[in-house]
Amino acid sequence: DNEAGGARRVLLKLSGEAFGGGAVGVDVKVVQRIAREIVAAVRSGVQVAIVVGGGNFFRGAELSQAGIERSRGDYMGMLGTVMNCLALQDFLEQAGQATRVQTAITMGQVAEPYIPLKAIRHLEKGRVVIFGAGAGLPYFSTDTVSIQRALEIHCCQVLMGKNGVDGVYTADPRKDPNANMFVRLSYQRALVDNLAVMDASALSMARDNNMSIRVFGLEGEGNVTRTLEGEQLGTLVCG
Ligand code: UDP
Repeated sequence: DNEAGGARRVLLKLSGEAFGGGAVGVDVKVVQRIAREIVAAVRSGVQVAIVVGGGNFFRGAELSQAGIERSRGDYMGMLGTVMNCLALQDFLEQAGQATRVQTAITMGQVAEPYIPLKAIRHLEKGRVVIFGAGAGLPYFSTDTVSIQRALEIHCCQVLMGKNGVDGVYTADPRKDPNANMFVRLSYQRALVDNLAVMDASALSMARDNNMSIRVFGLEGEGNVTRTLEGEQLGTLVCG
């Protein structure tokens, strides 16, 4: 399962919502804490690649509701993810962690282009690689991209960090007091029961290629470090 020559290599997906702390823009306190937690895990030997969402700026589907053409709205959404990448990169570098941002839309002054073999090399050298601009394609989501990147650069697992929830539940725990958290959940059940884990294209790509996903809560001191290091918080979605 582990193709990173013994080291644990994981793909961390950070939602844009977390970055915004529930508002539009970047909540520096949140990003700073997440950065510190990532650095702690890297220092203990974990290879960390990151896909950052952009929902704290724009979502194409929402812009399209407001009258902006869908694809153009999606490009706006992708550009939003890059701002989050730069914020995270800054706090990682401030904490002494070497990082590279690679974007799926080329922007040479700001980031490297996405080059999978180079990304792997960075990880092997102990650098954190942050992937921005999603897949560079409208109608995709950063959830789907995190599965794809994890597959392409041989991560053992995708760790989906969520805001406001700490795993996958039988019902929305914010609305239903009887909701229970799954410790383990099959791809198929998540898909068929339409459990709010991630979008269906991400789930089906994970299922078809057997990439397991741990859904965990970003809130709570230490959660990010512990999950990166392999502790089993939240819900495991697998075969
Ligand atoms: N997006 C896209 N293609 C991609 C990734 C993202 O078009 O490959 C756009 C899409 O409009 C999406 C927005 O970027 O709504 C922000 O990404 P996402 O919603 O996945 O971020 P998150 O929900 O994780 O914050």
